[in-house]
Amino acid sequence: MKYIASCSFGKDSLAMILTIIKHGLPLDEVIYCEVMYDDEISAEYPEHADFIHNKAIPILELCYGLKVRVLRDTKTYKGLCTSLRVKGKYVGTPLGFPMRLGPWCNKLKMRPIKAYNKEQTDEVHEYVGIAIDEPERLARLTPNKSSPLADYGITEEMAVEICREHFLLSPIYQTQARNGCWFCHNARIGELRDLWKKHPHLWAELREIQAISRVTFKQDYTIFELEERFIKEQAQCE
Ligand code: SF4
Repeated sequence: MKYIASCSFGKDSLAMILTIIKHGLPLDEVIYCEVMYDDEISAEYPEHADFIHNKAIPILELCYGLKVRVLRDTKTYKGLCTSLRVKGKYVGTPLGFPMRLGPWCNKLKMRPIKAYNKEQTDEVHEYVGIAIDEPERLARLTPNKSSPLADYGITEEMAVEICREHFLLSPIYQTQARNGCWFCHNARIGELRDLWKKHPHLWAELREIQAISRVTFKQDYTIFELEERFIKEQAQCE
């Protein structure tokens, strides 16, 4: 049996790894799947990407002796947004932003993990970072997966503390409630405002995609409308 911990470097997955270490559970490898916006830009917020590559991975490897494997899909978010539809009513037009129901971007994360697990000759047991106070997610666990956080009674709030105590809490939590992709259509308005203010080069990328996309970025807003809203709000505060 090969034991793999799936890690996003968010609070729950890092607390899970620290719990595995504390209780001496078997662990062969930590797997991190990095969705890429394009060949150069990560889907992670820049602060989180920096934390992952320059702090968390070195700590796990050098201080805890763990092996961290970074997986990436061959496709990128931008590559898919700008690819042309090959069938349907809008054939020949760019795919644009994902639809909100059943978005294709999830595959960029899940596909490399599934492919990697399939490549293994040993049976794989996967640890996932789900806290004990997330019953709906726990109920969906399949027999080859387990949640060390739930097994040891750790809540989401406790996970934050565990990471903080070990200097492994990502700075992303200073501004974001969750650590999704910076281009996530599920991001809250406040999180998008933060992206617009702090990372104009990333916002400019979203403008480019909106310009060719039939689908609006959020259900009620195009990227241009969001920008208009943020500019107005800023002007009111000045
Ligand atoms: S976080 Fe959002 S953008 Fe990223 S894969 Fe999930 S749904 Fe898609």
